[in-house]
Amino acid sequence: MPPITIQDLKVIVTQPLSTHQRMIVVKLITSEPGLYGLGCATFTQSYHSVVAALEQHFKPFLIGRDVSRIEDIWQMAWVNAYWRNGPVLNNALSGVDIALWDIKGKLANMPVYQLLGGKCREAAAVYVHADGRDPQEVIDNARAFMDQGYRYVRLQMGGYGGKDARDVRPPGSTPGAYYDAREYTRRMVGMLEKARAALGAEMEILHDIHERLSPIDALNFAKAVEPLNLFFLEDALAPEDIEWFAHIRAQCATPLAMGELFNHPQEWRWLIERRLIDFLRMHISQIGGLTPARNAAIHGAIYGIRTAWHGPGDVSPVGHAANLHLDLWAPNFGIQEWCRFPEVVYEIFPGCPEVRDGYMFPNDRPGFGVDIDEALAAKYPPTDEVLQWTQTRLPDGSPARP
Ligand code: MG
Repeated sequence: MPPITIQDLKVIVTQPLSTHQRMIVVKLITSEPGLYGLGCATFTQSYHSVVAALEQHFKPFLIGRDVSRIEDIWQMAWVNAYWRNGPVLNNALSGVDIALWDIKGKLANMPVYQLLGGKCREAAAVYVHADGRDPQEVIDNARAFMDQGYRYVRLQMGGYGGKDARDVRPPGSTPGAYYDAREYTRRMVGMLEKARAALGAEMEILHDIHERLSPIDALNFAKAVEPLNLFFLEDALAPEDIEWFAHIRAQCATPLAMGELFNHPQEWRWLIERRLIDFLRMHISQIGGLTPARNAAIHGAIYGIRTAWHGPGDVSPVGHAANLHLDLWAPNFGIQEWCRFPEVVYEIFPGCPEVRDGYMFPNDRPGFGVDIDEALAAKYPPTDEVLQWTQTRLPDGSPARP
């Protein structure tokens, strides 16, 4: 029997959320009538670049290739541009990789978690985000999630926080999203202490520093919250500062999660092999798709490190399904982030994973079990804007990490 081959590659960009994330979905159409796969290539901040990479470079490379050879296609596509491991090409590659796994599942008439080795669990425990303007509002919002059955809640205050009430800037300062790292630490540690006292010992509390602190301030923060028994502290450091994890590790037992900004395998390999973090939380399209995420999960399992894949609104439902299938299989699954999509996303993406009582469930259809209504997706076209929230500055006006 001749192989089933890739006949066409289509890129679908849709923006159904009020928060304006551009979701990028790759549709690989095969020589088998009616057989196609969907993959997530969502890099919302630079979506034109990913679309161009897919349409202009990946499509001509892929046409005519045998869909059964996922590993071979991944390895060749990875080095085809010679320069590699960057976010644009990794996202394009992810769209292709996830679509090929979707096709393999459909051909096998099995969900992808079966192809990975089968389930270790029936559903994936998720965490959601509670925010508020002051500690009491954060606590009230966390309680509302607990009432809905969630047992893991990430607590933030004022978004990623650090808005300085005093906000004394030199005259003529450049406009921007200002924050004060020292104020951030004072206010967040206080909020987390109040939340632990109010919510009780059983509530699993998470917090995301979002790489907003200098390394020594991050170390102090991790030590200050150690008695609060967090489930994990996320992105205490920037990828550029990862050697500092050794110092945090040496001085406290706060569980550490890291990885949503990673693109290059060396970034997580170094941390895994030194056992410097507890949770891997890469954005799987940013690292090149399901194939490298599977490899990273296995690598982490050998060292006792768990998974916590990035799951924000700028991951399409196809990407969330890929996260979920890894979660169901991985022996070292830890937790899954969940962004709580509104109904319109379920209408555009039939089969989008459902969450009940704090767990995310698969639908057991072949592949990843998610489809796309292209006509409906087209009713939510992407818009262009110059990003403001990433134009962050410190009180004296210095540019800072967002
Ligand atoms: Mg984060």
